[in-house]
Parts: sequence; structure tokens; C-alpha cells
Amino acid sequence: MDCYTCDQNRQIDTLPVRELVAADEHWRVAHALDSALPGWLVLVPRRHVTAIAALSDAEAASLGTWQVRLSRALHAVTGCAKTYVIQLAEKEGFAHVHFHVVPRMPDLPDDRRGPRVFGYLNAAEGDRLDQARQDDIAAALRAQLDPAG
Ligand SMILES: [Zn+2]
Repeated sequence: MDCYTCDQNRQIDTLPVRELVAADEHWRVAHALDSALPGWLVLVPRRHVTAIAALSDAEAASLGTWQVRLSRALHAVTGCAKTYVIQLAEKEGFAHVHFHVVPRMPDLPDDRRGPRVFGYLNAAEGDRLDQARQDDIAAALRAQLDPAG
């Protein structure tokens, strides 16, 4: 099975901060790898699941808490006006359930609001956030999520 998310989950002990903003026994949080928008997060289950209906009750129990905690951290770190939470998992090789948690900035252009925010994903090499900047914002979000740690 060729699954990018499972490949990352298997290496959880050695992942860079952009791939491990936070985690618990059921979920891992990563920065999107090819987004032009700083702070675009994905929340992924720790096991291979391709439909929301296949999540366990235990996975479901913490899902809402993660979505809200990540949203709060994005407000604090990016100054976003709200967050978008979207789950599709339709792209080839990315069928593993992943909830996009996207900071909707106050100045986001009208033509990029709502589903059109996906225009910032799959960004070309020169347009996407490079890994150093992904690590920077991931570290800021990690600190915000876990001030004591
Ligand atoms: Zn997977």
C-alpha cells in the first residue's frame, strides 16, 4: 500500500516539526507539504483509514477537540479571522483521511474564500512555503498548543 501519511506515521519518532506539530495516540498534526498559505494544517489518524465512518469511537472522541485546539492555535499564531475545516481525501495517493484545518486570514481575497482556498494547495515549487518556513510556523503552533512543553 502506497500511502504518504502512513509512511510519515511509521517514522513518527524522527519527523521534523513540520510533520509533527502535535500528536496523541490517535491523531497527528502536520503542516501541509505543498501549500502557499502559512499555517495550512492537516489532522490525520495514526492508522490507515479512508472514510470518516471507519474511525473508531476513541478516534472520534478526540477529533472535535483537536479541530478546536488547532483552530485556537491558528488564531493566536497567524491572526486568522476563522478557520476552515475540510475533509475530502480524494487525491491519488492521499486517500488516508485528513482534515484540512486552514487559517482564513482577514485579508484573504474574495476569489479565494470558501472551497476556492484550495487554490493555495498543490502550489508550484516556487510558490509553496519552503520547508524552513513550514518548520518555523509549525514550531510556533506547537509552542502555542503546549506552552509548558
Ligand atoms: Zn495511510
